[in-house]
Amino acid sequence: MNIAVLSGKGGTGKTTVSTNLAMTLGVSYVDCDVEEPNGFIFLNPSIQRKEDVFVEYPVINQQKCVLCGECAKVCQFNALAKAGKEIVVFEKLCHDCGACKLVCKADALSYGKRTIGKLESGTVKSIDCYRGVLNVGEPMAVPVIRKLLGDLPQVDHLIDCPPGTSCNVVNALKYADAAILVTEPSEFGLHDLRMAVELVKLYKIPYGIVINKDDGKENMVKIFCKQNDINLLGAVPYSMEAAVLYSNGIMLYEDTSYKPIFDGMSEKIKEVFQWR
Ligand code: SF4
Ligand code: SF4
Repeated sequence: MNIAVLSGKGGTGKTTVSTNLAMTLGVSYVDCDVEEPNGFIFLNPSIQRKEDVFVEYPVINQQKCVLCGECAKVCQFNALAKAGKEIVVFEKLCHDCGACKLVCKADALSYGKRTIGKLESGTVKSIDCYRGVLNVGEPMAVPVIRKLLGDLPQVDHLIDCPPGTSCNVVNALKYADAAILVTEPSEFGLHDLRMAVELVKLYKIPYGIVINKDDGKENMVKIFCKQNDINLLGAVPYSMEAAVLYSNGIMLYEDTSYKPIFDGMSEKIKEVFQWR
């Protein structure tokens, strides 16, 4: 089973929850927040494998090109433009769809390859860890996410998704059998949680909510869960102690006060998702 960990907004503690849950559940951890993959900072696995991720882009043979402009017309991403006596290629805008080659009657178009990021994997305490890393300045994360998730072995994974509800998250959710939505009890948190709930509903997969920085009160997220009959999988309390552990790079599940919280969350996840 693949369980995606989402957050409607950034900064809710999605990676804190994902990394600690992966260790508690004993499943592999996959960081597909490829623009800012920081889960390995906490887990610190020994990296055993690295692989570049490539995308293709069109290369114009100026000798063969008759400047008909059909390739630029068909490109939905404005990666090609007819400018005077040449076709200009904006490589980073190309989505690798292949349409321009199909419409070129002069056989003037081929494809080159360029690196946009890399995949890394390793282990820590017998937990397999995977991550995708998008190169700085690259605008498209989806090819790295697809390559990362498409190449995973057929075992249980906890997938640390990108924040928000953008196409990066949508692409990650395609590989998920269930979802955990991490939120915080604030107006912003609840607003973006609602969007995340709408997104996972589209996929018709089971889901539940984890509250991070919980104030211990009957707060707006708990009321939202009750009103909408959504499973509350657990809550991590708001405390200075957690912040100190976090800033020292210590995993919360290793601390005696937090271990029971993540153990309880793990049991609830297994029960709600009928897993293991
Ligand atoms: S492959 Fe698709 S996205 Fe890329 S330049 Fe050609 S038409 Fe545009
Ligand atoms: S479709 Fe082919 S011939 Fe026409 S402008 Fe593009 S590359 Fe040149």
